[in-house]
Amino acid sequence: MALYNEDFIDTVKSTCDIVDVISGYVNLKRHGSTFFGNCPFHREKTASFAVTPEKQIYHCFGCGVGGNVINFIMKIENINFKEAVEFLAEKANIPLPVADNTSESQEEAKIKDYHKNQMYSINKSAGKFFYQNIYNSKIAKDYINTRKLSISTIRKFGIGFATGNNSLYRFLKSEGYKDDDMLATGLIGKNTRGELYDKFKDRLMFPIFDVRGRVIAFGGRAILPSSELKAKNIPKYVNSPENLIYKKGNHLYGLNIAKGSSGKLKRILVVEGYMDVVSPQSFGVTNVVASLGTALTENQGKLLRQYADEVILSYDSDEAGQNAILRGIDILQKLDVICKVLIMENAKDPDEYILKYGVEKFNALIDNSITATEYKIKVLEKQYNLKDTTEKIKFLNKMAIVLAGVTNNIERDIYVEKLSKELGVGKEAIIAEIEKHLFKDKAKEKPLLISVVNNKSKSSDTTNLEESIIYLLTLKNQDVYNKIKSLVDIQDFSDEVNRALLGKVYNAYMKNNFNEMDFTSICENEAELSKITKIMVKDTNITDLDKATDEVLGFFKNAKLQQRKNDLVSLIKNTQDTALRSTYENELNSIIQSSGTNTL
Ligand SMILES: [Zn+2]
Repeated sequence: MALYNEDFIDTVKSTCDIVDVISGYVNLKRHGSTFFGNCPFHREKTASFAVTPEKQIYHCFGCGVGGNVINFIMKIENINFKEAVEFLAEKANIPLPVADNTSESQEEAKIKDYHKNQMYSINKSAGKFFYQNIYNSKIAKDYINTRKLSISTIRKFGIGFATGNNSLYRFLKSEGYKDDDMLATGLIGKNTRGELYDKFKDRLMFPIFDVRGRVIAFGGRAILPSSELKAKNIPKYVNSPENLIYKKGNHLYGLNIAKGSSGKLKRILVVEGYMDVVSPQSFGVTNVVASLGTALTENQGKLLRQYADEVILSYDSDEAGQNAILRGIDILQKLDVICKVLIMENAKDPDEYILKYGVEKFNALIDNSITATEYKIKVLEKQYNLKDTTEKIKFLNKMAIVLAGVTNNIERDIYVEKLSKELGVGKEAIIAEIEKHLFKDKAKEKPLLISVVNNKSKSSDTTNLEESIIYLLTLKNQDVYNKIKSLVDIQDFSDEVNRALLGKVYNAYMKNNFNEMDFTSICENEAELSKITKIMVKDTNITDLDKATDEVLGFFKNAKLQQRKNDLVSLIKNTQDTALRSTYENELNSIIQSSGTNTL
């Protein structure tokens, strides 16, 4: 059985969003950052089947099944791993890699991987080179000062400056990169005489990172005055072209930073340009991303769903911006993401707004964002002259379509009430109009009983503590790993499945780039999958990771000592060998003395 390479499986997993796929089989409802539905693998009336978009896993609290998107398809379609990968690839229109297993196709895949890695590496080197340039150029320094960008912000985003003049090409050459790989990144071009040259000149350079933190592209913003740009016919923005490692609509600028900082609320602001992400950062507003291009794509919507419970759209107030917001609302609502719209007056974008009015006013603006429905109503109201009866009827017809899309009855009622008053039209007439658009599929809605995740962990229960330790490791924090690894040995775990998992997780940390670790794919059987998803699906709000780790490790150490004491007491009781007994007694004494309390 020919297996596909990691890279391909990775692509399938990241393209086939787990909520999307499972929604094809299970009616899922959002509850906080988790989706719940009735388990398709056991009969139940309460929804105990949980799916988390953030971690891309599912777990049933009823029957214990769990896994990633591939595991789900294997189980529900009753097919093997390879078939499940193919099944998902076909659904997502991802072409299968050359299926045969000849050394040639494997060789090709290897070569492609090699070039991809070269491109990542060139981008990284170029990013460092641009970053070093920024303080050596007067024009760049002046620009940074007028935009009030702090040094820490520039460092955080790796903002740099491209001087052009082939300095980048010479630098990359000196680093030993091949011309073809440089050309592939789009940072370097080739003229008609066959000479290579820097494609970015006199531009502020914004590296675009993927969620794994790799530089996949650059956005270059001209810093010459607009009049000069116009005269010389130079575009204000130039971006890296699409290539092997960069597909435009699949990434969000700033997500690598925003994903860790969206806070308890998990609210992410979506803006248009690089500066709209960077500028608020200098003032402590860190949960901002840019869609790189005016309208949000579906893939970007799915990315947002992984990291945010609520998305706030903030685009320019011109017509293009307004259309982008309406499209964004449609995409996000289809994906079941709560979305709102930021309304800004007297400034064209967040960057300008903050410079003009300050960050406090901006934060207040975020808090006062209006709902998607309110925004749609606002847009419609502008389009019709409501004093004119014919226009009013047209407006009501359009309005009815908008309100038919509101799934919450109470919310819909409020809008109907408001409209009825404002327009002087009876509520019944508006409701009748809405009902025309409601069709029959509303009957599906039923109240949902969520079985609450059992979060009680008795500090004395070692199995629970073992699970807590594994949970901490799944957070992919290097410091946490170092601490746990230095204090917890695999043999310290008493639960068999936990022990196997700890070994595998340790291995994953030692072997992999830990951004790429997927803990569901290291599992070898259903028991392990069930355990790891049960552990991961928990939504704990740890505010101080360091403290939490120390606490869990402290409890674990005490529990282990207690257990050993109990073991020693029974060993002493049962042994006839006096020498052995005295060894046990010595150990018991030293434990009692070191822990300071005699609990016998
Ligand atoms: Zn189940």
